[in-house]
Amino acid sequence: MAGAAVLGRLEAPLAWRVATVAAVREETPRVRTLVLDVDGWPRHRAGQHVDIRLTAEDGYQAERSYSVASAPGDPLELTVELVEDGEVSPYLVEELDVGDVFELRGPIGGYFVWEPGHGGPLLLIAGGSGVVPLRAMLRTRPSDVPARLVYSVRTLGDVIYRDELDRLGGDVVVTLTREQRESRRSGRVDAELLREVGFGPGEAPRIFVCGPTSFVEAIASALVELGHAPERVRTERFGPTGR
Ligand SMILES: Cc1cc2nc3c(=O)[nH]c(=O)nc-3n(C[C@H](O)[C@H](O)[C@H](O)COP(=O)(O)OP(=O)(O)OC[C@H]3O[C@@H](n4cnc5c(N)ncnc54)[C@H](O)[C@@H]3O)c2cc1C
Repeated sequence: MAGAAVLGRLEAPLAWRVATVAAVREETPRVRTLVLDVDGWPRHRAGQHVDIRLTAEDGYQAERSYSVASAPGDPLELTVELVEDGEVSPYLVEELDVGDVFELRGPIGGYFVWEPGHGGPLLLIAGGSGVVPLRAMLRTRPSDVPARLVYSVRTLGDVIYRDELDRLGGDVVVTLTREQRESRRSGRVDAELLREVGFGPGEAPRIFVCGPTSFVEAIASALVELGHAPERVRTERFGPTGR
């Protein structure tokens, strides 16, 4: 009986809660942050995500996952990038307004998570909207934990949280894949760039990689090529396309 009780507790599904949009912030022309009020929201950890569920008038439902963008203890924020032919993201980015409600459950995930007690240094590598959970980690990081964010985006105008990241100075390296700009790097993230700006294997960084599937796979290979221990590399894949 005791075993069944424990199993029951472990397998209890997360409850769906009602989220109310408290504010919206345009991050780029294609990306928007939703600040949410969620009754009874438990404290999350940096790197976790939520599932959201939208229900149409005819009862049709669509579910998607979104990383938590805010630091633990702060109001829940999600940052969503528009996928033009997508089912859910156009609604979240272009239609949802302050006061609107939808369902949400979470926080979810215990693998792609960083807490100060895990130590550093932190090497964070993002492609596109993959920067979202890494921003939550940067906001959680005490100032004595060294961190470096390597962030790949198409153009400077696509940089999410640009002011906030610019304030972190040399801790953030942005590389533009479809534009050349003076004083900005251009080209894809590869082993050469990581060797130059990342922490080496000898410094044993905790590494988090997030973005489109093809991006994450390329970075994971580059990290192994550089000699990083696979068990120190944690990955989160957002979707099927490349950047
Ligand atoms: C754990 C997790 C966390 C995530 N966190 C975030 C987040 O913080 N912010 C965010 O914007 N997205 C995030 N995503 C992606 C998100 O769940 C959706 O996949 C994305 O918003 C597209 O949904 P859609 O309904 O608009 O597109 P869909 O209707 O599902 O897909 C439409 C078309 O776009 C393609 N597509 C699907 N997903 C993507 C994508 N991510 N990029 C490019 N093309 C895609 C599909 O192959 C299809 O051709 C996360 C995904 C996971 C698994």
